[in-house]
Amino acid sequence: MIPILMYHQIADMPPKGTPYRGLCVPAKKFAQQMQWLKRLGYRGLSMQDLLPYLEGKKSGKVFGITFDDGYANVHDNALPVLQALGFTATTYFVAGHPGGHNHWDIEKGIPHSGLMNEQQIQNWAKAGQEIGSHTLDHVHLTQLPENEARRQIEASKYGLEAVFGVPVTAFCYPYGDESAAIREMTRQAGYTNATLTVKGLALKEDDLFGLPRVTVSGNIGLVAFLMKCLTQKEHKRRVKKEKQP
Ligand SMILES: [Zn+2]
Repeated sequence: MIPILMYHQIADMPPKGTPYRGLCVPAKKFAQQMQWLKRLGYRGLSMQDLLPYLEGKKSGKVFGITFDDGYANVHDNALPVLQALGFTATTYFVAGHPGGHNHWDIEKGIPHSGLMNEQQIQNWAKAGQEIGSHTLDHVHLTQLPENEARRQIEASKYGLEAVFGVPVTAFCYPYGDESAAIREMTRQAGYTNATLTVKGLALKEDDLFGLPRVTVSGNIGLVAFLMKCLTQKEHKRRVKKEKQP
């Protein structure tokens, strides 16, 4: 069983009462989580680097690190930590909005937060970190006509590949909104894996286009974090599907 961690923002949490404030994990806390996993002998890997382990071709103490949406604070606060520890990670970019902000979150009362611009995405890739796709516009894929869903999946991949000159093989369904047809479109577009917002540890028998993840909230204490990553407790809760922005 392999934990694939799901983060959004690496930043101080907004004031109490702010919706979804747990999506922000403070930089110090993130560093502590990574350092502890390293101390326990684990290596943090991007989806590309994790794939052979998920496929059962390699074995070892590894976990996946993913960041949804592509926030600038991930570039500023997470990248130095990853580099210091020799870990790789995947950021799923909203490909149509480099340098933009989380416009899809605003109606939910989530505070404005900037996304990485092209230079920052370039830095991310140059540092050996992976560029993944989270569609062009952070859409609900199952609610779109088929040709538009396909465009969101394909054009985000090809656009990121053209601009940044790296293969884009990792995908993440916005809001965890997917179906068998959407998974098939993702596979046909040339991706090799896709993650969900379903909670749980990834198992060898899991569909590579339906990988569950471990949600890391800004509220979580260190012991609870380690328990979540390294014990089967999380696995039992996988039936509970959580809708995340
Ligand atoms: Zn998202």
